[in-house]
Amino acid sequence: MFKLTKVIAQNASALSGISKNARLLSTAAVRYSSSTATTNSPSANAIDSNPDEPIQISNPFEKERKVCILCKHNITPDYKNVKLLSQFQSPYTGRIYGRHITGLCKQKQEDVEKAIRRAQHCALMPTYHKDLEFLKDPKLFDPEKPIRPHKY
Ligand SMILES: [Zn+2]
Repeated sequence: MFKLTKVIAQNASALSGISKNARLLSTAAVRYSSSTATTNSPSANAIDSNPDEPIQISNPFEKERKVCILCKHNITPDYKNVKLLSQFQSPYTGRIYGRHITGLCKQKQEDVEKAIRRAQHCALMPTYHKDLEFLKDPKLFDPEKPIRPHKY
């Protein structure tokens, strides 16, 4: 085996890259007889086009960027939009749900709280319960499953 590879390597160096086959053979020879053959400059070019080398791909583990529900639909909370605002209010106590439950971004959460306070001040929204009219509205989030745990 070693003899054969040596011969191939010598032949390849003698031809010095005239034919493609000789080049491929010489690289193969260099790979298999790493201890014996320490020659050949033409093999360096062939190694560049190695199919075993890693290829560039996008990160498959990259996380999706989270966008809150109001930013997603480009909604600015308004104190007159009571139907929307009451969805951020507890039906039992009228408490405004925190950001860990609503999943809003900081800016939108502030806007929602401000709008709810303003609506309550204008007597458009109740303070200690959710308006009965909106009790059967679809839920934007599940208060039982907050993003991070809470004590109440
Ligand atoms: Zn947002």
